[in-house]
Amino acid sequence: MKTRAAVHVEHGKPLAVEEVELGDPGPLEVLVKLYASGICHSQLHQIHNPATPTPTLLGHEATGVVMARGRQVSHVKEGDRVMVTWVPRDLTPETAGLSRNTKYTFRGGAQEARGVYTWSEHVLAHEQLVLPLDPEVPTDVTAIIGCATVTGVGAVIGSAKVQPGETVAVFGVGGVGINAIAGAKIAGAIKIIAVDLVDEKLRFAQEFGATDVVNGKQTDPVEAIRSLTGGGVDYAFDAIGMESVINQCLESVKPGVLGLRRGGTAVSVGIPQGDVTIKRGLFPGGERSLIGSLGGTSHPIEDFPQYVHWFKQGALPLDKMVTKVYDGLDRINDGVQALERGEISGRSIMVYDRP
Ligand SMILES: [Zn+2]
Repeated sequence: MKTRAAVHVEHGKPLAVEEVELGDPGPLEVLVKLYASGICHSQLHQIHNPATPTPTLLGHEATGVVMARGRQVSHVKEGDRVMVTWVPRDLTPETAGLSRNTKYTFRGGAQEARGVYTWSEHVLAHEQLVLPLDPEVPTDVTAIIGCATVTGVGAVIGSAKVQPGETVAVFGVGGVGINAIAGAKIAGAIKIIAVDLVDEKLRFAQEFGATDVVNGKQTDPVEAIRSLTGGGVDYAFDAIGMESVINQCLESVKPGVLGLRRGGTAVSVGIPQGDVTIKRGLFPGGERSLIGSLGGTSHPIEDFPQYVHWFKQGALPLDKMVTKVYDGLDRINDGVQALERGEISGRSIMVYDRP
């Protein structure tokens, strides 16, 4: 079938919204008509990275409805509302290494989509990247579960396993950071310190459970966090992916006390664009830990229904996190530019259609 997609065709140029052709689903593939897609910051890195092959289809969080499925797909069926994500829902050691790429045709040439894409009106996706969506919830704001929520909430609950009574700092409160803050509140953290350079984003973070805010432009965040917590937090999350921030996270967690307890944990969530050097003295002194978190260490088959449940309860206010809605795929370049200029608090989405 023919559909329309935002295609990255040339570096430094806006995305081209053009026709692409999708085949019928293979045995393990699902054809989904998309309702809405989030606009995620990590895609900006892809757009700006000269090593990104062209053409490339982008976007990796969405909702939609199943139009057709391959003969080996049984967990969703035609007409089901679904979430689309880049995090495989339920791998086994046997299926973990298999390709989840799909094929499409663009300007007459056969192409391969690397993983999922959602800046398009339809997607042909591997069955691992499609999960059922409760028909009782709206299909617009739930589009951000597939990346922002799984990455942010997952980092706190799945990767760090924050416990009630612990203390947390989150550096960078965009779409992922806001979800990390909401996740820390759900986990029962008693102090949740949001760090950003934009006051507006910090004010916004307080709506999701930030107990304290630090503007890193005006105040040294490490000193501020240490003084707010009497020596450091249990967990500091880098939702940006910068060398300086990873170091600040390590410096912000409480040091261990030899013979008594280990130090706190810095969690690297945002993907750094280059090598990272850790300051001398942070290891092994203080017995701090640095862990990585990709897709929130999540198991979507269990975790996504939990996120939807928290949304329905009000604990995970996705509707408040989505602050900008673009009407249709043709607005994609406006959305990308606004995100680039730092104008988006929380997350922006495009709505293509509604049920
Ligand atoms: Zn993303």
